[in-house]
Amino acid sequence: MDIRFTDEELAFQTEVQQFFANVMDDELKAKLHGVEASPDLKGGMIDYQRRLNAKGWMAPGWPVEYGGQDWSVTQHFIFNAERGKVGAPPPIPFGVTMVAPVIYTYGSEEQKARFLPRILNSDDWWCQGYSEPGAGSDLASLQCKAERDGDGSGDHYVVNGSKIWTSFAQAADWIFCLVRTDNSGRKQDGISFLLVDMTTPGVTVSPIDTIDGIYHLNEVHFDNARVPAENLIGEEGKGWTYAKSLLVHERLSIAEVAESKRNLEQLRELARAEVNGGESLLQDPVFAKRLADVEIDLMALEFTELRVLASAADGGMPGPESSLLKLQGTTIQQSIQELRMDVAGYYSQTLQGDLSPAQLGNDFADFAQKQYFRGRASSIYGGSDEVQKNVTAKHVLGL
Ligand SMILES: Cc1cc2nc3c(=O)[nH]c(=O)nc-3n(C[C@H](O)[C@H](O)[C@H](O)COP(=O)(O)OP(=O)(O)OC[C@H]3O[C@@H](n4cnc5c(N)ncnc54)[C@H](O)[C@@H]3O)c2cc1C
Repeated sequence: MDIRFTDEELAFQTEVQQFFANVMDDELKAKLHGVEASPDLKGGMIDYQRRLNAKGWMAPGWPVEYGGQDWSVTQHFIFNAERGKVGAPPPIPFGVTMVAPVIYTYGSEEQKARFLPRILNSDDWWCQGYSEPGAGSDLASLQCKAERDGDGSGDHYVVNGSKIWTSFAQAADWIFCLVRTDNSGRKQDGISFLLVDMTTPGVTVSPIDTIDGIYHLNEVHFDNARVPAENLIGEEGKGWTYAKSLLVHERLSIAEVAESKRNLEQLRELARAEVNGGESLLQDPVFAKRLADVEIDLMALEFTELRVLASAADGGMPGPESSLLKLQGTTIQQSIQELRMDVAGYYSQTLQGDLSPAQLGNDFADFAQKQYFRGRASSIYGGSDEVQKNVTAKHVLGL
């Protein structure tokens, strides 16, 4: 595989570097520091995402006609690598990476015109209503019900049921939901894809406490919520097909190679600075080996991602390979989070007496701890490790 850049690609790389150097001023950097683990994710990201949109780079992966870029795989690679180097995060995925491809692929012209520009400009914030108390890995068992024609007029669905683990529902304007519209046949065939305004009467959100101490998870309840039938995507009963295509986008976005590269570089610097008994942590052979192992795994993941994207370039999106990338990407993220906790050492422990690391005044340890606890969930969300292994075994390796 030849990964030398052409002159045009090098020029593009310079353009991306200059853009991020201009955009990432001190104020924005401060806003974005640790934003992915912040309860005010929306407030932190909106300014940044609008700066991306002003340049036309909010959604480079979308088709050009809807506001995307006609970039090659290499250009996408360069863009993400340069973005990652300066610590600029990817946009929040629920709108731009998850529901938008479903809307532009399967939605009506009215739906495209209504929703896509507002996603690009971060006017609408979305959340994902897939999981239910009895339907996670076995998603097709979902029971949240949408009945057409609650009052005989036929222009609404009446939705009843609950969604769970809904990330950032508390800040969302819209939720895209998988709902059951038919119970008669194969369970996959009775599922539809519905867009619901979070201000609809009968929609309520209740928080779920998490180990990281940050408010990001919720239950969303629907109690006779009346949703206009025009908010149905595509055909009734075809939601399962649309849902699966969304999962591919979701899993690809979770791999986060560029972020892991930057995190590893920072970790190396921190370990170098951590001196004990005259030697830095980086000189400790056990720590150095663990760090090197993760670096090698990350390098392998980066090439696998490039290979998958390159081979899919002609035929659109990759398929089940996204499970492999998600699995390995999150395993690497968790290894980095564990190494970070080791660098923070004593201060990374949950509580020192009654004080958290933040109260002790150790910002790095606080950051390490939050990321570590938050990161435990990455082997669950977007589909658990075991499920990704099943998909990889069956559909990638053909076992
Ligand atoms: C932080 C976080 C954020 C999330 N955000 C969202 C969100 O915004 N929207 C949303 O809809 N959902 C969200 N989820 C839910 C997530 O998608 C589910 O938790 C996940 O799909 C697993 O489902 P479950 O929790 O019901 O576990 P289960 O499916 O009950 O799994 C329990 C255990 O059994 C294993 N298992 C299950 N089936 C198999 C199998 N066939 N073979 C082998 N092992 C199996 C699993 O790997 C797991 O270890 C989020 C979850 C977390 C933790």
